[in-house]
Amino acid sequence: MSRVQGLDRKRLSCARLCFTALLLRNTGVSHGALRVAVQRWSDHCLQRRARGVESFRTRVAWRPSALVNAAPVCRVFSSHGEGCEAGSAPSAQPERDGLLERCQQGRLLSTPQKRRLSQLCDLLLERNRHVNLTAIRTEPEVYEKHFVDSLRFVDIIETLCAGVSGERPRLAAPNHFRLLDLGSGGGFPGLVLGIARPSWEFVLLDATRKKCDWLREAVEALQLSNVSVIWDRAELAAHKPALREAFDCVVARAVARLPALSELALPFVRIGGYFLAAKEYRREASTVGDVHWPELASAMRSIEANGGRYMRTVATDTDGAPTACSTDMDDHRRVIVIVHKQHPTPSMYPRAPGVPERKPL
Ligand code: SAH
Repeated sequence: MSRVQGLDRKRLSCARLCFTALLLRNTGVSHGALRVAVQRWSDHCLQRRARGVESFRTRVAWRPSALVNAAPVCRVFSSHGEGCEAGSAPSAQPERDGLLERCQQGRLLSTPQKRRLSQLCDLLLERNRHVNLTAIRTEPEVYEKHFVDSLRFVDIIETLCAGVSGERPRLAAPNHFRLLDLGSGGGFPGLVLGIARPSWEFVLLDATRKKCDWLREAVEALQLSNVSVIWDRAELAAHKPALREAFDCVVARAVARLPALSELALPFVRIGGYFLAAKEYRREASTVGDVHWPELASAMRSIEANGGRYMRTVATDTDGAPTACSTDMDDHRRVIVIVHKQHPTPSMYPRAPGVPERKPL
């Protein structure tokens, strides 16, 4: 029997098995979509010489949704040494690691962490061809605009966590640190932070189902046992006892303007914890403490109404490290706004879905 015949036989039997499993499970995915997914997956396995098919087959049999994104998942397994390219790292790994070198926290990552980020990059780019998760479509941009940008949070959180700035009481011991990524979308910053800090527990919250499907898929493929995903609107989730004032830190990037975002985020933060919002600084006329920034000025009321106190805004340099803001700071500079939770949030907040954005406090 020739090699190709052998592969074909393997491919067909796997495809048939997956297909049958899915139909039997009545997953609600259309017949046509399944057929395309099986085809994509089996072509991928064929290209990759069908190694690791066994392990993949076992997984899809009980996780049908994997099939829809079969090719990239297969690649992820391969980098764990159990998939179609057993033991091999992605070919672009050294160049990709180089992209992380520019950033202080990126340089500190271990080799397995860098490999996981590389796997995440593969998964994201592949999935993004079919589902609109991010406007970013190239590998260097994923590294710069998602990975490095997400890693900016690490130093700031650790500084707050250790209380080394002298202005804060200590947060929870780092090993019991619990964070919420509000409006995680494609997984930023939450997925990246989950990889960079495996001892911290993360909840990724998003209101869009397809984004949560992707997040769950990525968490499972990357085997991130410290990360979980909740599909809900913040306005509703924040009233659930298990989530209300249950987090040491809430992080958010590109979710809403600060007045609305403060009402969405602060109810999740425990007293003594922090809300950190990644923003792009826009130089404008009014001044609040250390920055000229109307968006921040207009958020003060909402921050205080929700039990918070504005602490400061930190700019990050090209290395990703935090630096002080100055009044002559460049426009479009990446900044992180830090809010400390000092009092319980009144039970009326957040208001009903959509209200915080439509009628900011
Ligand atoms: N933080 C990610 C995604 C930004 S897009 C990043 O920086 O790349 C904003 C995301 O916030 C979307 O996925 C949207 O579904 C989610 N979102 C917006 N309002 C929300 C709300 N009220 N509750 C939960 N998620 C929300």
